[in-house]
Amino acid sequence: MNLMLFGAPGAGKGTQAKFLIEKYNIPQISTGDILRAAIVDKTTMGMEAKKFMDAGQLVPDSTIIGIIKDRLAVADCKNGFILDGFPRTLAQAEALGELMENMKIKLDKVISLNVPDSLIVGRITGRRVCSGCGASFHVEFNPSKKDGVCDYCGGELTIRKDDNAETVKSRLEAYHSQTAPLIDFYKNMGVFMELDGTNDVSEVTNDMINALSSLILQIPTASSSYL
Ligand code: ADP
Ligand code: ADP
Ligand code: ZN
Repeated sequence: MNLMLFGAPGAGKGTQAKFLIEKYNIPQISTGDILRAAIVDKTTMGMEAKKFMDAGQLVPDSTIIGIIKDRLAVADCKNGFILDGFPRTLAQAEALGELMENMKIKLDKVISLNVPDSLIVGRITGRRVCSGCGASFHVEFNPSKKDGVCDYCGGELTIRKDDNAETVKSRLEAYHSQTAPLIDFYKNMGVFMELDGTNDVSEVTNDMINALSSLILQIPTASSSYL
């Protein structure tokens, strides 16, 4: 199953992706995680991207499309994948369409997690991210069992450099001007589905799994491998 999680920064895409990985045994492809790993490795691409990320701006399309092209070619994507935070511009969406056409695969669903801007600042400033596995927690809304320690891998929880009130403003602007136009793009493709992302984490997960179960029933040829 080829899925995309869509929504504003902090809408809960990474959090929900973790449940989909376990349920469907397909990898999460987060361009943000890939970029942050490149920054840790101090690659030329990472150093170049960092300037944009720290400023809350989108990294140029050519860099992102190159990342995705390489990532989709990895063998673990052959049974499907969960795109998280990609695409964010029409040019990226078009490039993805071309790549998938060449791979003879199609996008099954774009799941939009709808969260109003007024809630985003609190989500982002309270976010804590595992330095080991990238899992997201929230100091108030989704706390780890042990303070500062990841529930999944025991890694240390950190605050992302770009998770501050000023950067959030530019990131939301980038979302509305450059990413929101993709809503119509995917509506026109007939794959766009919206969920209320303001509910509790577990409620959003249930809504998402329910919606996907009915989707699986609609694809009889593919259903057996997902059930
Ligand atoms: P969030 O969901 O909180 O915005 P991400 O980890 O998805 O966080 O992205 C962090 C930053 O990485 C973005 O603000 C942007 O600078 C860059 N980035 C990630 N994915 C993309 C993309 N598809 N296109 C352009 N920039 C991206
Ligand atoms: P995204 O990947 O879309 O940028 P995350 O999954 O990292 O977003 O979530 C952003 C922050 O909001 C994290 O601190 C996360 O724990 C928290 N969060 C995620 N889903 C919910 C929810 N349904 N209700 C409240 N907080 C949430
Ligand atoms: Zn972890």
